[in-house]
Amino acid sequence: MSTPVTRFVQPSRSAPGTETVIDRLVESNRAYAAGFADPGMDARPVQRVAVVACMDARIDLHAALGLELGDCHTVRNAGGVVTDDTIRSLTISQRALGTRSVILIHHTGCGLQSLTEDFRHELEMEVGQRPAWAVEAFADVDQDVRQSMQRVRTSPFLPHTEDVRGFVFDVTTGLLREIDPQS
Ligand SMILES: [Zn+2]
Repeated sequence: MSTPVTRFVQPSRSAPGTETVIDRLVESNRAYAAGFADPGMDARPVQRVAVVACMDARIDLHAALGLELGDCHTVRNAGGVVTDDTIRSLTISQRALGTRSVILIHHTGCGLQSLTEDFRHELEMEVGQRPAWAVEAFADVDQDVRQSMQRVRTSPFLPHTEDVRGFVFDVTTGLLREIDPQS
């Protein structure tokens, strides 16, 4: 007998003393919403910029770049690499939502620098299936930024590739270092 489909799922509540991190996040959201006023914005970023960055927990993009709510699109993944899915988001960002500039932010001490494509092989050995995606591991962060800039600039789907710049964020100083696409 199959389990009936539940249409209205009650949010799961943890028993007292077994609060999870997500419970705390939901709790924080209540306080956030209590002080929240509708900013009255539409979906087009005010600064017409898309930020592509690593998911690293030490990078507070809005604070580091002086961005306010509503200013930018943020596309984050492991490494801040420009994958097909990143291009998908940037294409929608530019063609449907009016952004014109792309800033790419990789950083010192990235978790991807300690991996190789062996990760993918080991994964395949373990689960019996080869992932469709590349790990995008890298040794040279500057070169990795250059490659990402190149992928954005050469994408046939993006109409605005004149203002594409790439940087390495130093997680110890908070400072950006710009990467020359040519060197
Ligand atoms: Zn990283």
